[in-house]
Amino acid sequence: MEQSYDLLQYLIKHDPNAITVLDKNLKYIYVSERFLHDYKLEEKDIIGKYHYEAFPDIPEKWRESHRRALNGEVTRSDDDFYKREDGTVEYTRWECRPWYLPDHTIGGIVLYTEVITERKRAEKELQKSRERYRQLFDNSPVVIWEEDLSEVIDYLKTIKQNNPDLDRYFHQHPDEIAHCMSKIKIIDVNDYSVEFYGAKSKAHLMANMHKLFTEKAMKNFVQVLKAIANHKRFFRMDHETNTLGKGIKNVVMEIRIPEEYKDSLKRVYLSTTDITKQKKTEAALRESEAKFRTLFEGQSAMQLIIDPQTGMIVDANQAVADFYGWTINELKQMNIIQLRTNPFEETLKELTQSIKNGKVYFEFSNIKADGTPVEVEVFSSQVIIDGKKLIHNIVHDITEKKRVQLEMEIAKEQALAASKAKSEFLANMSHELRTPLNAIIGFSELLRDTPLNNSQKKYADIIVNAGESLLSIISDILDFSKIEANKLELFPESFDILELIENTLNIIRFKAYERGNRLYEEVSADIPRIVTGDMTRLKQILINLLGNAVKFTENGSVTLRVNIISKDENNQQVTLMFSVQDTGIGIKKENREKIFEAFNQEDYSITRKFGGTGLGLAITNRLLEMMGSSLSFESLEGKGSTFFFQIQIPYK
Ligand code: ADP
Repeated sequence: MEQSYDLLQYLIKHDPNAITVLDKNLKYIYVSERFLHDYKLEEKDIIGKYHYEAFPDIPEKWRESHRRALNGEVTRSDDDFYKREDGTVEYTRWECRPWYLPDHTIGGIVLYTEVITERKRAEKELQKSRERYRQLFDNSPVVIWEEDLSEVIDYLKTIKQNNPDLDRYFHQHPDEIAHCMSKIKIIDVNDYSVEFYGAKSKAHLMANMHKLFTEKAMKNFVQVLKAIANHKRFFRMDHETNTLGKGIKNVVMEIRIPEEYKDSLKRVYLSTTDITKQKKTEAALRESEAKFRTLFEGQSAMQLIIDPQTGMIVDANQAVADFYGWTINELKQMNIIQLRTNPFEETLKELTQSIKNGKVYFEFSNIKADGTPVEVEVFSSQVIIDGKKLIHNIVHDITEKKRVQLEMEIAKEQALAASKAKSEFLANMSHELRTPLNAIIGFSELLRDTPLNNSQKKYADIIVNAGESLLSIISDILDFSKIEANKLELFPESFDILELIENTLNIIRFKAYERGNRLYEEVSADIPRIVTGDMTRLKQILINLLGNAVKFTENGSVTLRVNIISKDENNQQVTLMFSVQDTGIGIKKENREKIFEAFNQEDYSITRKFGGTGLGLAITNRLLEMMGSSLSFESLEGKGSTFFFQIQIPYK
């Protein structure tokens, strides 16, 4: 008994579990070292001690278990905890059972306990990390599938034994692809997959996996099978996949096999990224490129692309090749300078300007392959192709246009020369006509002063009048021809402006009287008297306007006004406004444009009635233009007209 007692003590002491044996009064008889260690106790302190003394913080539920054990009941818990006095929580697993004396009465209780706090913590950590992984898995914007391909690889191995060329094998046995697929076991799919494939749930998706393979995808899948059979741990391919109601999508599929599953393939990760949009953009890009190509190549308009840095022709269309007589390939090896006869600097300028301004228009002299010179116009604009700044040129053949233009210029010059010659001839002619006419008028006047009978006197008067009106017409023609031939000049001189006004009015006075018109003059009192200008021409202008006013007014009035508009005393310049107002027939609205034109009169009925050549206003206006002014007028039909102009002249 002694011996067995020692043995029991020994056994308990070294048991790897935390064990303690208490007597009926819950005093320690035996404890295992593990127990001491777990509860941080010393053996010598504990044997014979009361359990609740060693653990004063023992919870009521355990005290209850002890009571029940002393009554012969066994209680246990796999996952329990208690709070130590110092606040720390320990997790435990325990069993509490009675032990019996040889007389079968209960001698006390045995406590098997295990502190599992550490394990609990590790478990919690594991749980957390699992959850984190799950979150990542489910919330990833990439489709992730976890699959078990062990049956697939086993099946592939059997195939490979007799058919090392898998490509050929699957080509000959296309049904086998589907068979291999049926051996895929899906372990899990992430949340995103459900959305991506348009499934109702994960279960729905997993049950319908076979529907996701298009015919093309099936054929593609041979690549995956081959990769697996060749022990590849990573494999990626462009793929297409069907969905459950979202149409066919273009995807990149990646397969990863974790190191530990590289042989068994029990766990394989398959991720799928949607590249449908990218593919569409690529297709659109290709399409637009093709469109541009046809636009560029098929166009009948000549199009050239050049590199502004070097002047090299990067591309040219058929129209350019046809025009210049080089092939497209020849052109692509040429520099733009080889097409030009312009000096190199001009071409250089074009290139730099095109770069700077983006868009430019040029005209160039070019040369064809056979040496024919041609003229072209070029519309340049900058384009960026593959990140490089290039110049796109549209070229037009303007050889013919230029030739016609040149011919027209020559014709115009010839016409101008002819017109000038005509004017010169007229000027000379007028001069030649005036000399004999002056003699006719002069001698008729002398004749009038000799003793004549009434009839003779009347004839002489008619000759003088007719001569004078012919002279005035010839003077007009002479002036006009001179102006046209640019031969008329102004001769400025100092003169008394009041004197000029009086002289002019005196010339008109008799005619005015003849037609029953009153003649008024209104001249500003502060007008400077001595001014500098071409007195003769100014007088001619005034006579012209006053003459017209008197001619087109009967029994009315004609007023000459001279006002100061402004006076610059520093520079001794005065701006005068001359106006001639009449109460005559006025000018019809529709004729107002044309009365300034040479040889134009308001209408021919007026000409017949009033005479005249239609040159007066044209000459007046030209003279005023030479003086830096112009003629204006206001008129009311039947009420009269006012002709006016401003001139700036120096004064003293
Ligand atoms: P013309 O030698 O015929 O007078 P003008 O050039 O002086 O030539 O005038 C052109 C036309 O303008 C005249 O024929 C007339 O129809 C019109 N005209 C000019 N001045 C007046 C005016 N004061 N009143 C009415 N018509 C005028």
